[in-house]
Amino acid sequence: MLKIAILSGKGGTGKTTVATNLAWVLSKHLKVQLLDADVEEPDTHLFFPIRFSYEESVNILKPVIDKDVCINCGECVKVCQFGAMISFSGGIYVFDSLCKGCGACKMVCPTNAIDEVPRSIGKIRLGDISSSLKYGMGILNIGELSGVEVIRQLKRYIDESADVVVIDAPPGTSCPVVESIRGMDFTILVTEPTPFGLSDLKMAVEVVREMEIPSAIIVNRYDVGFDGIEEFSKQTGIPILNRIPFSKEIATLYSEGRLFTRDIPKWRMIFEEMFDKIKVIAK
Ligand code: SF4
Ligand code: SF4
Repeated sequence: MLKIAILSGKGGTGKTTVATNLAWVLSKHLKVQLLDADVEEPDTHLFFPIRFSYEESVNILKPVIDKDVCINCGECVKVCQFGAMISFSGGIYVFDSLCKGCGACKMVCPTNAIDEVPRSIGKIRLGDISSSLKYGMGILNIGELSGVEVIRQLKRYIDESADVVVIDAPPGTSCPVVESIRGMDFTILVTEPTPFGLSDLKMAVEVVREMEIPSAIIVNRYDVGFDGIEEFSKQTGIPILNRIPFSKEIATLYSEGRLFTRDIPKWRMIFEEMFDKIKVIAK
C-alpha cells in the first residue's frame, strides 16, 4: 500500500483538484481510498456521486465541574495548557471551544469535583464512489477550533486492503496538517507559480522534511513568467512532478464539480505517469 497526502501551504491552490483526479485515475486499475482530512472545509465529495453507508460522531471528553464539591483552588486552571479554564468568584468556567479533552484538569483536582461527559466536535462519514474507490471525510463542527481529533478518527478508517490511499490534507502547516501527514509514505506539495506560492511551499517543505516524508511538487495554474518554483526545486532537490497549466477549460470543469482527467483523456495518462514517478521517489 502507498499512502499519499496532498498538501499546500494555503487554501485555493489546487490541492483538491490533485487529490480527486489522482484518486479517480488510479481507481481505474487499483483499489483506492480517498480521505478528505480538510475537515474545516471538506469539498472532495462535490466531485463524485457517493453512496454514504456509515456516519459517526467524533467526541472529546468535556470537564464538568460540580460546584458543590469544587473549593476553587485553581489547580485545574493552572494545569490546563490550552487556556480553556478560568477561575472567577462564582467558581470555574470551561471554554468548550478551547478544551482539547486531555483530562489533565480532572487528574489534578484534589476534591474530585470534575466529571467528564462526551461532547461532539464533528463527524466522520464513509462510503463508496465505485467498487474500486472508497471514500471517507471528516467534518469539524462550525465554531470548533481544532480539527486534529477529527482527522485522527478519520485516519482510523484507512483501508489496509487498499493499494493506494490519497489524503486531502488541510491547507497550511499547523497541527491538523501534521496529524494528516503523520505515517504517510509520500506528500505531494501543490503550489502556484507566484512569490506567495513559493513562500507557502517553503513552509510546507519544512514540515515534510522535519517529518522525513519523501515529497514532490505539482505546480498548478502554471504559466511562464515566474521561475522561482523551478529554482527552489533545483536548490532543494525536490522534484517537480507536474505542471498543470493555467487553463480556462480546467477551471470551468472544476467550477462545475467535474474531474478534468475524466473530460480531457490525455490527463489520465499524465496522472498515471506521475504515479509511476511517485512510486520510484517513495521507495
Ligand atoms: S481543581 Fe477541582 S477543586 Fe480545584 S478549582 Fe478546579 S475543579 Fe475546583
Ligand atoms: S480537559 Fe484538558 S484542555 Fe480541557 S479544560 Fe481540562 S485541562 Fe484544559
